[in-house]
Amino acid sequence: MSDLIVIGAGLSGLALARAAAERGAEVIVLEARARIGGRVLSHRTEAGAYDLGPAWVWPTIQPRIARAVRAAGLALTEQAEAGGFVFQDQTGRIERLPHGFAQEPPSLRIAGGIAALVEAVAAGLAPGVVWLEHVVQRIALTEAGVAVTAESPAGPVTLQAARAALALPPRLIGGIEIVPALPQPIQAKLAAVPGWMAGQAKALALYDRPFWRDAGLSGSAFSQAGPLGEFHDASLPGAAEAALFGFFSWPPALRAARRAGLPALVARQLGTLFGAEAARPRDVIIQDWATEPFTATEADHANGNAHPDYRPIALPAPWGARITLAGAEMAPEFGGYLEGALAAAEAAFNA
Ligand SMILES: Cc1cc2nc3c(=O)[nH]c(=O)nc-3n(C[C@H](O)[C@H](O)[C@H](O)COP(=O)(O)OP(=O)(O)OC[C@H]3O[C@@H](n4cnc5c(N)ncnc54)[C@H](O)[C@@H]3O)c2cc1C
Repeated sequence: MSDLIVIGAGLSGLALARAAAERGAEVIVLEARARIGGRVLSHRTEAGAYDLGPAWVWPTIQPRIARAVRAAGLALTEQAEAGGFVFQDQTGRIERLPHGFAQEPPSLRIAGGIAALVEAVAAGLAPGVVWLEHVVQRIALTEAGVAVTAESPAGPVTLQAARAALALPPRLIGGIEIVPALPQPIQAKLAAVPGWMAGQAKALALYDRPFWRDAGLSGSAFSQAGPLGEFHDASLPGAAEAALFGFFSWPPALRAARRAGLPALVARQLGTLFGAEAARPRDVIIQDWATEPFTATEADHANGNAHPDYRPIALPAPWGARITLAGAEMAPEFGGYLEGALAAAEAAFNA
């Protein structure tokens, strides 16, 4: 019987597990995917790691991220923004503006990608703590704590612990059988919390060189035409290749219907915005988070772009004494963000 079972090896779950383990607790992390990181994911080339999930941090206003980056010894780089900005209206017409909108505070990237931060947090856990490919399906309250059942490649596994912490987007909790069942109002409350960016998708286009800079462009653009709506330079400083990325403005259903043709459509749109060379990327990588069952639910397909006002939810007795809710959407501040993932881990640790 362990002290704590953390469900979900995203940044929040890993940070919570590490804090508990450093305090001497016996911890197990059950992770559904065959990798850690959750919404943090990199596309790796010889030049380095490109973020397909979160890419930006704001350490001047995010103290936990600032501390974690420092503790991991990682370098920060500014998002490249210097140069002209491209605007595409609904009809596809292009307008080039001398500059874009400076972000304040500036968006920073982590050298090695956000995955480097997640890996650094996980590196503080003893081998064998994180169990990959364990999809938690049931949590039962027991006399002494909880019994957590997960489906693994070797079949179902049930583990006992004093407590469990759910570090995943709250809507996914609805897919886990909790025994006894949570009261209906709590279930409804959890189901109403959108997973931040869970319905989103990103496209990454790789090139031999950042040719848009020759034309005085920053690589930033906004489009009302789609399939992508917002673009940025994703190049790695000093790398012998260059990259642009964009967020899709097309909703999940349209993306799914046009999936096979999306790389070509993305390349064509990039060409329209940034010139002929942009239409010939070396590679286009598409990461559609709406299709990932361990990130998004059907309800997340209808998420808006506005940032929800996330508030922590505590489970009532008797569940609350045994099951803590973590994950970025349960954060007391910066809900939905990486900073929120750490803040929620901290709050769950102190609960
Ligand atoms: C496209 C995109 C862009 C983003 N951009 C930014 C950004 O620039 N800056 C920023 O701060 N934030 C950004 N975010 C948000 C950021 O990704 C999240 O705040 C953060 O990654 C959440 O971490 P988490 O650990 O709370 O959740 P997650 O990373 O979602 O981790 C939850 C984990 O639980 C696992 N899991 C799910 N169900 C089960 C189950 N039944 N059993 C076991 N394990 C399970 C999942 O596989 C996953 O590993 C972005 C997100 C996306 C998708």
